[in-house]
Amino acid sequence: MSSASYSLHGPVAVITLDNPPVNGLGLALRQAIVAGVDAAASDPAVQAVVLIGNERFFSGGADVREFGTPKAMQEPTLLTVIRTIERSPKPVIAAVSGVCMGGGLELALGCHFRIAHTEATVALPEVKLGLLPGAGGTQRLPRVVGLETALNMIVSGAQVPVTQLKDTALFDEVVTSELLPAALALAHKVVSEGRGLPRVRDRQVNEPNAEAFLQFARNTVGAMSKQFPAPLKCLEAVAASVSKPFDEGQKVEREGFLALMQTPESRALRHVFAAERAASKISDVPADTPTRAIAKVGVIGAGTMGGGIAMNFLNAGIPVVMLETKAEALERGVGTIRKNYENSLKKGKLTQDKLDARMALLQPTLDYADLSDVDLVIEAVFEEMGVKQQVFEKLDSVCKPGAILASNTSTLDLNQIAAFTKRPQDVVGLHFFSPANVMRLLEVVRGEATAKDVLATSMKLAKTIKKQAVVSGVCDGFIGNRMVARYGQAAHDLVVAGALPQQVDKALEKFGFAMGPFRMGDLAGLDIGWAIRKRRNAEAPAEAKPNVADALCEAGRFGQKTGAGWYRYIPGNRVAQPDPVVAETIVAFRAAHGVTPRAISDEEIIERCVYALVNEGARIVEEGIAERASDVDIVYLNGYGFPLHRGGPMLYADQVGIVNVERALKRIAAEPGADVAFWTPAALLSRLAAANETFN
Ligand code: NAD
Repeated sequence: MSSASYSLHGPVAVITLDNPPVNGLGLALRQAIVAGVDAAASDPAVQAVVLIGNERFFSGGADVREFGTPKAMQEPTLLTVIRTIERSPKPVIAAVSGVCMGGGLELALGCHFRIAHTEATVALPEVKLGLLPGAGGTQRLPRVVGLETALNMIVSGAQVPVTQLKDTALFDEVVTSELLPAALALAHKVVSEGRGLPRVRDRQVNEPNAEAFLQFARNTVGAMSKQFPAPLKCLEAVAASVSKPFDEGQKVEREGFLALMQTPESRALRHVFAAERAASKISDVPADTPTRAIAKVGVIGAGTMGGGIAMNFLNAGIPVVMLETKAEALERGVGTIRKNYENSLKKGKLTQDKLDARMALLQPTLDYADLSDVDLVIEAVFEEMGVKQQVFEKLDSVCKPGAILASNTSTLDLNQIAAFTKRPQDVVGLHFFSPANVMRLLEVVRGEATAKDVLATSMKLAKTIKKQAVVSGVCDGFIGNRMVARYGQAAHDLVVAGALPQQVDKALEKFGFAMGPFRMGDLAGLDIGWAIRKRRNAEAPAEAKPNVADALCEAGRFGQKTGAGWYRYIPGNRVAQPDPVVAETIVAFRAAHGVTPRAISDEEIIERCVYALVNEGARIVEEGIAERASDVDIVYLNGYGFPLHRGGPMLYADQVGIVNVERALKRIAAEPGADVAFWTPAALLSRLAAANETFN
């Protein structure tokens, strides 16, 4: 099947790229371009060639569907395609509209002339996958847009509007009119004016102070990209465009590309890229499942979560009815939303007009009747089953048929909540993370009865409000909180065994976590966990586990908000200060439980805390709570500050080797006094270890 069409417009051959959805440069398209250029070369009637895409995409670059398949490397590679164009005896003109990205831009740079529509954008985004542009981008772009602009584009991967580059040599013409006629006119012109076959590779990079600039850039880029090798490798490749002849520079680029391809960081970023795409698919909910229209949303509860949740919809231009039981609470909630927008206004991130428009979409109410026409309602009231029951019974009686009834519960049984209504098929969990207007993660909780079109609608809606959705089955804590509970327990047990909170935090922060578990606890508030433990201990006294934090909470230490928790805080300062009182509390706890403290290494801290996550993640996959291991990674990366350069706990386990993880878990489980159920490897993990397979 051809991925491009070839047609003659008088003496100009037009090769139209046609590989939906983004004109990815897959094997068939690469073959078709080469065939087209060859056909034009051997046709005496042809004087020039135009390479054009469609209005939305010139080309989005490599075809991601071929990643990891032999087709990706099969000839003609992109390098060969570009060489073919450069050596064409007839001028080849790239006509760029829409997105021109990665390999697509490298292809255009290989052409003799370039014309763009003014609304087009260009980018070399390879750095975002831990790579560098590997088909000449680092050598050709600086030759046409200058060193500084090229470096900024390549190191950031940012998409740049063509209008910003219109004064550079990147494009011979930038037009507002229809692109194909303009490209044909340019083709006639270059032929009639005898402009020859100029090649970008033959130009020089003009930059008088190149070395000084590059040295400055090395320092800045190095400081900004600590965990990632790609930005500095991009820089070195770009530097070669200044200091070396083209072919030697391209060799530096090639070597950099191949080296980066092997790094765990690039593997992690490519994993995340694929995992995010995979997470939006639910295997038994086909992509063409019809969705319900969501034109108006209700939010119940105007507290911490309700306000943030409402903002997501207001930001997307969707009207929100926000309901509370008391006028004061409602006013407070509306006030907080307004204050958040005003802060954005002060920072220049929002205009007054937009602020007014968003607030105008918000309808505060105390009356359930105002929810009669909403298409979706999200409940974010107190985390108590009795309160949820009242709310869902009420919603069932006032909401129109087909309205989706969602709960933001973190820990309660969604199936039980659904059973409070006569329409459990319309009930779903939409578990946002705090602050809900900022955090990208959304767990879509699938109840036993949740209808497929409700799931499909939830996944689509997540995109509308710019969230990364991951589907979770019903269990205590869903994917993320269930895992973090294990992680917190492992960290706590290390403190009991002999470590201090600050040592545990530091080790995990060095591993790459944004914040260690104890600092995180202080930020979130220790009273939340305390309340949950008290409830669980009452429900299942036999399983009750004493926790050092109970003593801290009993002493009124709830974390940052009370000035003390696992650390102490000077008023107005969020810096966690180690506190001798905490050390004493820990010593007393050990004595009360007959623990003789031992020395604990940073390696042991990382091993226990991270492997506790991996083991629980494996159980979650095994039980079908998550459909795939990569979903677990996406949850943990987006909701809990797992280091991006490690690609999530499950990919980390793959990189360490599942066999090694399993062996360590067995060793810990066999230690005297160990919590055997906690540390026994999940069946899935053992199965993979035995088969020498990976999660991903
Ligand atoms: P919150 O206490 O800040 O807000 C709850 C709000 O609900 C209050 O304003 C209260 O007046 C209102 N409310 C109580 N009963 C009501 C009723 N019957 N009808 C209407 N309004 C009522 O609590 P929150 O932190 O926003 O949590 C709300 C829900 O979100 C809980 O289920 C919680 O588990 C979940 N959640 C919280 C977080 C978090 O980090 N805070 C994260 C994810 C999910």
